[in-house]
Formats: sequence, structure tokens, C-alpha cells
Amino acid sequence: MSNESVPPTSVIAGARRLVVKVGSSLVTDEGRGIDHGAVALWAQQIVALHALGKEVILVSSGAIAEGMKRLGWAKRPSEIPELQAAAAVGQMGLAQAYETAFSAHGRHCAQILLTHADLANRQRYLNARSTLVTLLAHGVVPVINENDTVVTDEIKVGDNDTLGALVTNLVEADALIILTDQRGLYSADPRKDPSARLIADARADDASLAAMAGGAGSAIGKGGMLTKVLAARRAAQSGAHTVIASGREREVLLRLASGQCIGSQLRAGAGKLAARKQWMLDHLQTAGRVVVDAGAAHHLREGGASLLPVGVVDVLGEFERGDVIVVLDDQGREIARGLSNYASAEARLIRRAPTAQIEPILGFIEESELIHRDNMVLTQLAAG
Ligand code: GLU
Repeated sequence: MSNESVPPTSVIAGARRLVVKVGSSLVTDEGRGIDHGAVALWAQQIVALHALGKEVILVSSGAIAEGMKRLGWAKRPSEIPELQAAAAVGQMGLAQAYETAFSAHGRHCAQILLTHADLANRQRYLNARSTLVTLLAHGVVPVINENDTVVTDEIKVGDNDTLGALVTNLVEADALIILTDQRGLYSADPRKDPSARLIADARADDASLAAMAGGAGSAIGKGGMLTKVLAARRAAQSGAHTVIASGREREVLLRLASGQCIGSQLRAGAGKLAARKQWMLDHLQTAGRVVVDAGAAHHLREGGASLLPVGVVDVLGEFERGDVIVVLDDQGREIARGLSNYASAEARLIRRAPTAQIEPILGFIEESELIHRDNMVLTQLAAG
């Protein structure tokens, strides 16, 4: 990592497909209702990016903040139905604002509301992906938000930084731009530490970034700097770079596209995961977990082996055949996730059993592996 040797060219210059996330505090002008001037400027820049041959998907927060304003609520409600009601009211405002801003340029935009469940189901994941790609092919700007009105804890993504990263993975975008009300990621909290330096350039998987990002966010949005750093790490898994920059910078999107470095760029390393493996990683919430012994953990980590029932010491939670489950080592650390060949009830019966015992125990055999290595991805991320 370095902040002295600022790279001459922004990673955005070479990116063709971009996801741009705008946070609540920008969209809603610090809670005073939608900032139509700012929305108009983003729309203008996105239209200009199209002219440069780039495709753009917007992920926009602000529904709850705008709903609160429209309903005259000064304080963010703590009751879930009230938050969901505010989101329903505010989402109308968001849709209206983007529609007005893009139609001024003769462009269409499209509203897409997602929950985590939409991305956790392979069929719906593929559907969402085809719809988004089709919209892009027609020159339409998809505007995405979480479907706040219906989400429950079990199915929500929770914050739009993470949603932006999941969408980046979903459409295999080249880069994610997170626009926020701060200039980027600092080495320490600039509000508390005057010696804090802006991190201009780093690897997204640099472990020291999370410590710099700390925990606190603004009062109005959901994600703090830490969720942005984790979002960058997630985006990097499908090979996408992330830039965290101030949405208040003049022409920030166009200047980034012209190669200027603004804010913090968190670069992806080489190598994209195959789409199917990416889908497994995108499961923030998983139904079940299995704990494996040290030998199995070693074979998975080092050898890329399949997971056999004999290596499983414990089966936690309930899952069906075909569900994505998490594999933990005996210290509780996540090693991998993958598609289970057996339901949890069956897995409990055959845990610790050598392959030859599976059929006598169950009366049938689906596969000799609990998770085949082709259906498994090794994970570094503490998900969520
Ligand atoms: N989906 C929420 C909204 O539109 C915002 C979540 C976030 O700020 O990350 O109000």
C-alpha cells in the first residue's frame, strides 16, 4: 500500500462496466430530502459515460431518508413496519427523481428492488443477471435498491455497499464506485486524528484496511467505512476494482473515467472466480454448517479435495440437498462453502462414516462426497 506513489491512472479509465453506489447522505442532502441537483449531475455524468462506451448500473440508497422526510418524521423510527413504510414512500421519490433526471437526456432508467433471497436462489440470481444485462444492452440505466419494504433480517443484505458489491459480482462489472460524503479511506478516523492520511491506492485484499476503516458510519446511512472496505474485498473476488470517493467532488465520475485518481482505489488482484463459484460466495446467509476435523480441513485448504462424510465431526442447522453450506474447521473458522449432496438429517447419520458405510447407513447413496470439490469454493471472507 502507498499513499505517496499515487498511480497516474485511475482503474476506472479502463473499466467498461461500472456499478456506481450513491449513499443516503448524498442522495438526500444530509436528510433534507432528495437532492435533485445532485441526482441531475450524476445522470448527466452517466449519460456522458455511455458516450465513452461504458455501461453503468446505479445502486441508490435514500428511500428511508426520503420517506421520513415526506412523512414529516424527524427521528428514524425503530419499529420495523415504520421503517418499511418510510422506505415504501421514499422509494417513490427516488424513482421519480431518477426518472426525471434521465428523461431530461432522453434516457430510460429502470427500478430494480432486490433482497438477499433474490441472489441466494440460483434461478432468481440468473434471472436478475439476465434482466440487468438486457437493460444495459438497451442503453437503460438500472437503478437498484434493497427491497426494504419486504425484507426481514433473514433475507436482507442490510446495507447498500454490500448490495453494490453483490451486484458487481452478479453482472461481472469491472469496477465498483462507492460515492460517499467522505473523501475516501483514511489511515485513521480523520474526524478524531489530525494525522490521518488518505489511502490513495491499495490492494482490496490488504488485511490492514479493515483496521483503518474502524466501525462508525454516518447517522443517516447504513454502511460505515468498514462495510465499504469489505464491499471492495467482495467485489475483488469477481476481479472488480473499487473506488471510494466523495460524491461531492465536481464531475467525479467523469474525472475518474478520464483516468484521474480521486479518493481511494482498492484494486483487485488477478483472477476471476467462475460464475458458479461466485454465486456460492454471494450467499451471505447460509442454512447450515458442518465442522470438519483437522485432516479434512488440511485436505480442503491445501489439496483442493472434496469433503467426504468421514471428515465431518458435526452438522449444524437444517438444510436440504443442493443448499449452500459453510464448512468450518474445529476452531470455528470458515474454510469453504459449497453445495451439499445430502440433507442435514442424512449428513448427521453419515458423519464420520467411511464411504463404504454410506449406503448401509442410509439405504441409498447419492454421492460419496458430502460436497464435491467442483461445487465448493475456499473462502477467506468472514461473510456479511
Ligand atoms: N436501502 C436503504 C435506503 O434506501 C439504505 C441502505 C444503506 O444506506 O446502505 O434507505
